[in-house]
Amino acid sequence: MVGDHHLYVGDHHLYIDGRWRAAGDGGTRDIINPATGSVFAVVDEATPADATDAIAAARAAFDAGEWPATPIAERADLLRRIADLLVRDKAELARIETLDTGKTLAESEIDIDDVISVFRYYASLAETESDRLVDVGVAGVISRVVHEPIGVCVLIAPWNYPLLQISWKIAPALVAGCTMIAKPSEVTPLSTIAFVRLCEEAGVPPGVLNLVQGAGSRLGTALTDTDDVDFISFTGGLSTGRIISETAAKHVTKVAVELGGKNPHIVFADADWDSSVEQVLAGVFLHSGQVCSSGTRLIVDSAIADRFVDALVERAGQIRMGDGLDPASKTGPLVSQAQLDKMNSYVATATEEGAVLRCGGGPPERDDLDPGGYWFAPTIFDRCDRSMAIVRDETFGPILTVERFDTAAEALALGNDTDYGLAAGVRTSDDAVGEHMVRGLRHGTVWLNDFGYYTPAAEWGGFGKSGNGRELGPTGLAEYQETKHIWHNTAPSASQWFTHEKDD
Ligand code: NDP
Repeated sequence: MVGDHHLYVGDHHLYIDGRWRAAGDGGTRDIINPATGSVFAVVDEATPADATDAIAAARAAFDAGEWPATPIAERADLLRRIADLLVRDKAELARIETLDTGKTLAESEIDIDDVISVFRYYASLAETESDRLVDVGVAGVISRVVHEPIGVCVLIAPWNYPLLQISWKIAPALVAGCTMIAKPSEVTPLSTIAFVRLCEEAGVPPGVLNLVQGAGSRLGTALTDTDDVDFISFTGGLSTGRIISETAAKHVTKVAVELGGKNPHIVFADADWDSSVEQVLAGVFLHSGQVCSSGTRLIVDSAIADRFVDALVERAGQIRMGDGLDPASKTGPLVSQAQLDKMNSYVATATEEGAVLRCGGGPPERDDLDPGGYWFAPTIFDRCDRSMAIVRDETFGPILTVERFDTAAEALALGNDTDYGLAAGVRTSDDAVGEHMVRGLRHGTVWLNDFGYYTPAAEWGGFGKSGNGRELGPTGLAEYQETKHIWHNTAPSASQWFTHEKDD
């Protein structure tokens, strides 16, 4: 069944050189509503040749187009116009995001608000940028460090926060003066298609923003194994990040990879009880755990561990799961059958490895949920340790593991005992302990007595195998810029290195 979202996202879904078109081979892909398991839209699916066309369009728009040299104020105005259109269409975009990802409408609305903030933030930030004057100590020389657009960018996003993740890339790329090819996940392309239509309406010039969607495994080579791209910004899983990094290295193409996380949430015995229970719960079960910064490893003080886990188990059982469009739902289904299979497999492995299942572990026992949906209840495994796959791997679902500690040193060692390093939380009422922990944790974002928050003005990214590069904040703009030093001698003189030879 094709709903009215087909109309909203238009008849054709590849956007190349300012034109909407079908795939070169006429291919399409069914898009599935995770709450029902049924098809609710059909989109054009790009071929590798379409991806190559998109790169050629972006290359031409960068090399011969006006966008890279458009004054910053005009670029910033364009970002603000996009933000205004996002405000206008927020309700519809949120609805599309919910149908596509399964997340609740309230979460999707927050996502769209965040997207709007990102565009406004980068519009303002770019306007405050200025050249850096360097005193080189030579009379008559003016030395300046300036920033210029890096060039053609390939922007690849995952399915968990489709529009949010791609906006963290498109907004700084656009304002920096780059041209780009956006590739959303094959699972969740609809909000990005609708968004590109808004960009067209806002006046993004042809070739500056191109859109292809389709399987990464099919388009990846065309998008990354090329000398025509200057920067690849990728958000997704570790294994894909590795493939892209290896391919880009052949071309010495700059890459930023924002990868997964296995994020500890450390609770000391003196932490505020109620907020700790609620935030550990929300930190792992929001969006059914399909969040890169999800706090999936509870590391809790032995002094309170049993009581704390009991409280979590009780509250987890009360989380209302359902169709994201139902206002009563507090969390939605998993995004796909593949994710559901993955959770079931982790439950089996964890049980074999000796973890103690305290709640969940399968679909909720409810007969009012659509049997075609990808339902998996909030799950807590107690008595876990680092030897277990469930503690080491990024499960990317609603599974919380529990480890215990007796000393702060032990808590810190456990929190850092991961290949990843994306995000961590610490809860304590002792400021000195808190400071010691937040400085000691090797993670890109650390929350103290809070969890999950971010702002467009502060950098986001990971240590270790959570990736390299940063998104958001000034560094998130710098990723899309080349740095150039301009040495200007305002009083050139003939006196040079070899002058004395002439005089001799
Ligand atoms: P994947 O790595 O499977 O996919 C991410 C994107 O890469 C998708 O668009 C995918 O396309 C594409 N892709 C797949 N293979 C290739 C390839 N060979 N070349 C180029 N592109 C390719 O990740 P998921 O979509 O499953 O997303 C979940 C992951 O993303 C988790 O690990 C999560 O932690 C991470 N993530 C990290 C964030 C961060 O800020 N660090 C934020 C959000 C998520 P397709 O979908 O068609 O396969």
